[in-house]
Amino acid sequence: MRSGISPDYQGCQFTNEVEKQFNNSGDFICRAIENADGVPYQLVFGPAIGEGYYLNVGFGIKQLFGITPGEFTEELYLMMIEEIIPSNEDIPRNPVELREKIINGKIQNYKAEILVMTPSGEKKWIKDSFIPVIDDKTGKATGLQGIFFDISEHKQTLLQLERAIEKATESDRLKSAFLNNLPHEIRTPLNAIVGFSTLLNEPGHDIEDQLEFRDIITHSSDHLLEIVDDVLEISKIEAKIVRILRKEVNLSLMLKRIYDRVRPAADEKKILLRYDARMDEKEIIINTDSYKLFQSLTNLLSNAVKFTLKGKVEFGFSIKEGMIEFYVSDTGIGIGLEHQPNIFKPFYQSESSSTKRYEGTGLGLSIAKAYIELLGGDIWFNSEPGEGSIFCFNIPDTRQES
Ligand code: ADP
Repeated sequence: MRSGISPDYQGCQFTNEVEKQFNNSGDFICRAIENADGVPYQLVFGPAIGEGYYLNVGFGIKQLFGITPGEFTEELYLMMIEEIIPSNEDIPRNPVELREKIINGKIQNYKAEILVMTPSGEKKWIKDSFIPVIDDKTGKATGLQGIFFDISEHKQTLLQLERAIEKATESDRLKSAFLNNLPHEIRTPLNAIVGFSTLLNEPGHDIEDQLEFRDIITHSSDHLLEIVDDVLEISKIEAKIVRILRKEVNLSLMLKRIYDRVRPAADEKKILLRYDARMDEKEIIINTDSYKLFQSLTNLLSNAVKFTLKGKVEFGFSIKEGMIEFYVSDTGIGIGLEHQPNIFKPFYQSESSSTKRYEGTGLGLSIAKAYIELLGGDIWFNSEPGEGSIFCFNIPDTRQES
């Protein structure tokens, strides 16, 4: 008694009745391939590439390319091909070269991933694998038999995975660069605080010097606090433990408070800071998280002042289609095109640490974006290098009907 595959299989010598049912193996294999979502085919070569014809094409061709087996021609297939990624380097990408090698028996089996555009304009990734059919007399290939598989979904998943890895690596790199630089970021203001406090306590400094030392100490303490606050805040955002606390907020009052807060820095740089108070005729009270709105606007305004050397910084808001839209514009250095896709990433700064001219942690925009999205809004910007930038964001209009 035998079990499994008959040892007589070589050369298809079927010996018993049951095995004889397997004799029509071509048909059986085609059905098995179709059942596995493959599309079997046979190609008989013509006098030139593109002039051959297909035989026994599986019905799955309809699902794969949107055409019937009868409509599938070699010429059409060659026209559909947009990109070929062969499984090994010995396989030529050029179809003419490939055919030459196949005919001359230099390719025993072929596997490639192929991007095609179907006749209806749909792009698909397929896997094409075939073996040549060799004429015993001449030893040359007269055609192929192979299988197409739709691998579009698999390719899509791979692409998403690659993007996710790229993103994770990029954010990891930014974080490490920041952490490497953190001691320097902290030490600079800390040294200023310690150094100038010591000087303050030494005799012999006139009142003007003492006032200047105090200013430096205040500025350095504020900056140190900002770094620590930003780092703590971004860790909470990344851990997704930031909560929204809504309450009634008088928008005009808040914007005036922000104006007062940013004004000294603008004055110091002789930049005009303008608050567009057109909307202030009527008191506007909204229901939102006051701290997060205040912080987002302050971050945008601080950046605008920081990255502007001359000219003006302007901000305001308007009400549009159920949303309150804020803007902060400046006539500053602008943002290079190469940096624009990255500026909302945590720790990203367009300047490298070695050539840094502007203070900052690279966290202000990512914190603002996270807050605005938590508030139910969106943030975007437009920037022209050397001309200036405008940052806009919106949050839901939660005014009470009066
Ligand atoms: P930073 O602490 O460096 O200001 P941000 O997250 O606030 O960090 O901003 C990220 C980067 O985006 C900045 O380093 C700067 O290169 C760029 N940027 C942000 N706002 C502006 C602006 N108004 N003008 C020019 N560049 C800006």
